[in-house]
Amino acid sequence: MIQLYIPLNFLGVIYREIKQSLTDIEKMFRLLDREREVADAPDAAELAVRGGSVVFEDVRFAYDPVRPILHGVSFEIPAGKKVAVVGPSGSGKSTLARLLYRFYDIDAGAIRIDGQDIRTVTQSSLRKAIGIVPQDTVLFNDTVAYNIAYGRPGASQAEVEAAARAAHIHAFIAATPLGYDTMVGERGLKLSGGEKQRVAIARTLLKNPPLLIFDEATSALDSTNERAIQAELESVGREKTVLVIAHRLSTVVDAHEILVLEQGRIIERGRHDELLARNGRYAEMWRLQQSGE
Ligand code: ADP
Ligand code: MG
Repeated sequence: MIQLYIPLNFLGVIYREIKQSLTDIEKMFRLLDREREVADAPDAAELAVRGGSVVFEDVRFAYDPVRPILHGVSFEIPAGKKVAVVGPSGSGKSTLARLLYRFYDIDAGAIRIDGQDIRTVTQSSLRKAIGIVPQDTVLFNDTVAYNIAYGRPGASQAEVEAAARAAHIHAFIAATPLGYDTMVGERGLKLSGGEKQRVAIARTLLKNPPLLIFDEATSALDSTNERAIQAELESVGREKTVLVIAHRLSTVVDAHEILVLEQGRIIERGRHDELLARNGRYAEMWRLQQSGE
């Protein structure tokens, strides 16, 4: 009995050692993988958008395995509703947006649109369904028209212009010698952060998808432009499923649910008045912003 026990125990130790080093190798590959694009599953289907409900279920994610960013985030955006995410810089808000757009695959949990795990659908069908106005817009080295129409290839000049007007960038474009044929980007006309943001908003308005992500979409605008464009975004967002990451809390007052994110965890959630009554982090942020304005 003893003779048998010792070798088995010994094997157990070796097995655990091998397993440990395999985990490390796996970790290393996962780290390298991060630099690679996510891939379509071999049997990926087209995303079928019905209402456009979004579910994050216990989502865990790290850009680098040694530094987890999201520690189990769960929420739902019912079809046609708006959910807002607020919280300090670095808390993981933009990461939520990037994961819904599937710039990265999550480490645990699930993200579903109308019940379909986004890892099981083609990236092209997923991204066709979502319009994202990111925090920092990168434009293509191409014409202004191309950059706006990228939201909907084949759009007419009139449609491009209408979107540009709604995003309050038409007058600026029209004042350049080449107008909509002006090249932008590294080798062309350099646009300010606010101008780039307005091009991205025009692109999204033209695309008119069922799901919208606004990641501090108007943060680079002056307050006059911001108020005007906020009204446009609100009207385009009506009836759509919207994830809004807000730096200005006045834009989240009407949200179906507000999530307060801190260090990758939802620490408070509820409607605006509920959170004010709770007198916690959200209420504190609200008071700070009110006094600052
Ligand atoms: P927020 O939008 O709330 O300011 P982010 O989601 O952009 O926060 O970032 C959350 C955390 O993830 C931050 O600590 C940030 O430094 C880190 N992070 C963001 N992008 C990357 C990346 N590409 N690689 C590694 N870490 C990142
Ligand atoms: Mg951010």
